[in-house]
Amino acid sequence: MAPRSKTAASTKSLASSARAKLRELTLELPSPFSADALCAVVSRQRNRPIVILEVDNVDADAPCGLWIETDTADYVMVAEGATKTHRDHIVLHELAHLLYDHQGALGKDYLHLSFPNLSPAVIRRALGRGSYDAHEEREAEVFASVVMELAVREQESRAVGHDREVLATLRDIFE
Ligand SMILES: [Zn+2]
Repeated sequence: MAPRSKTAASTKSLASSARAKLRELTLELPSPFSADALCAVVSRQRNRPIVILEVDNVDADAPCGLWIETDTADYVMVAEGATKTHRDHIVLHELAHLLYDHQGALGKDYLHLSFPNLSPAVIRRALGRGSYDAHEEREAEVFASVVMELAVREQESRAVGHDREVLATLRDIFE
């Protein structure tokens, strides 16, 4: 893990630590890519379900969703009605909090205040916007962006590969 310095880490160094994280976890991006499919890969790897819930009381424009960790599963909450790209970004952002094992800055009091109906015995961690420190938020945000970029690039190179096959076939036909 990158040492936490007093000065804010640069986006570039956060991006390279995100790529290192993907390598360290040997996470292969699923194809076709979606954040949900990547969560499924992580779930299998951790042998622990990640459940994505769409809820209507989360700010749809917020970059941060909500992550709740219980004894048996992880729940990621995203705003209902978010576009596919925005939804993917939020889910990846939350997945980053989970993969980086972010602890948040507010602790159990925040948890109790925010979710008075949920038993603190069941919930290990419940973190949403405003409960992380600035470094954790940037780390999650850059991780989400890096994964989105890699997914787009991989999809593009696959498309090019596909076209090459089509072109080769056409060439065979017309030669
Ligand atoms: Zn966040």
